[in-house]
Amino acid sequence: MPAAEIIAIGTELLLGESLDTNTAFIARTLRDYGVDIYRTMIVGDNAGRISEAIRESLSRAQIIITTGGLGPTVDDPTREAVALATHTELIFHPELWEQIQERFRRYNRQPTENNRRQAYLPDGAVAIPNPVGTAPAFYVPVGDKVIICLPGVPSEMETILFQSVIPLLRSKFDLREVIRAYVLHAAGVGESQVDEWLADLEKQSNPTVGLLAHPGQVDIRITAKAASIEECDQMIQKTVRQIYERMGFAIFGINQQKLEQVVAEKLRELNWEIFIAVAGFPEEVKKRLETVALNVQNLLFLPYTEWDKLLESHQQNPAFSQSHIGLIASLKRGEQQQQLTIYLRTPQDIEKITRSYGGPPSLAGTWAMRTMLEFVRRRLPSNPSGEDNL
Ligand code: AMP
Ligand code: MG
Repeated sequence: MPAAEIIAIGTELLLGESLDTNTAFIARTLRDYGVDIYRTMIVGDNAGRISEAIRESLSRAQIIITTGGLGPTVDDPTREAVALATHTELIFHPELWEQIQERFRRYNRQPTENNRRQAYLPDGAVAIPNPVGTAPAFYVPVGDKVIICLPGVPSEMETILFQSVIPLLRSKFDLREVIRAYVLHAAGVGESQVDEWLADLEKQSNPTVGLLAHPGQVDIRITAKAASIEECDQMIQKTVRQIYERMGFAIFGINQQKLEQVVAEKLRELNWEIFIAVAGFPEEVKKRLETVALNVQNLLFLPYTEWDKLLESHQQNPAFSQSHIGLIASLKRGEQQQQLTIYLRTPQDIEKITRSYGGPPSLAGTWAMRTMLEFVRRRLPSNPSGEDNL
């Protein structure tokens, strides 16, 4: 299996002013097509440092993919950096210049002299058409390796990646293996508990099982490698079944699903209303709770004052007793620990539950929201169609 490294180019990325989303996108795509990723880098707009990064990557990997720095200005250094790294000159390609001018004509615009820069490529480079922008992408074969340079604009990068780069890699490398990943989301359990339940599975080499903890949520990622997507899915499904047997009760969703959406969806299916009053919760969870309490009158967001009084007054709120589920929660934030108290009324029961959180205070709101919604989810009548399938 060939290995790849990704180099994201841009000073704005390096300084944290904008987020490097391209690396994750490229990594996920390559992974799906059976390319291993060992390392990724962010380098500022400096030809010398980029060429150094490229040379380093060439010493470790067969596929080097850069993104960014292909614009028309002097501080778009990728073409020059690749020429430096491969000890070649930049060569003017009249046919590329013609294409760039043609593109500008189509939009009734005039290319500037700067745009001519984009028609220069390192000697030996092959241009890759860019159907969605002006900056041509290109690749340079270096022995049995290849440097592939893609634009930074995500939509352009993505189009070229699927249209040209994947077919190129398939023709040059033996990409027989496919990698597929599947994520299960659990809540209401700690990472160490999940770790204990799944310890033997975490030692498996294919599919691999890995845990990732978030506030109030544990993700279980199952990754399989095989000759086909179908084979991967079968392997994953077998492991997923084992995980469900051990801890299915705590799994609320898969892949892109979010707890608040899952709970909202179930409530909609049941045609149930929920009443939520929370005190001491930070503003940022408000939007997420609004997903669940579709009826906004049923969502009260209060400053933390006195819990007992709150509880008493809201228990008397007619919306609380008329809803199928009544939820009153307070998050009391301390220096060391955050205390969540939940008062939950379902058609069958009334429960008072307390939980504490020792993680960073800034994440306590998300933790509390997930903990609380997971209590609700587990008390909803179960879905007759059974657990989620692949
Ligand atoms: P460039 O190709 O370097 O001129 O980048 C053009 C635009 O694409 C930048 O202004 C960013 O908004 C965006 N961009 C560049 N690199 C990345 C990246 N790694 N991830 C996400 N967006 C990027
Ligand atoms: Mg840039």
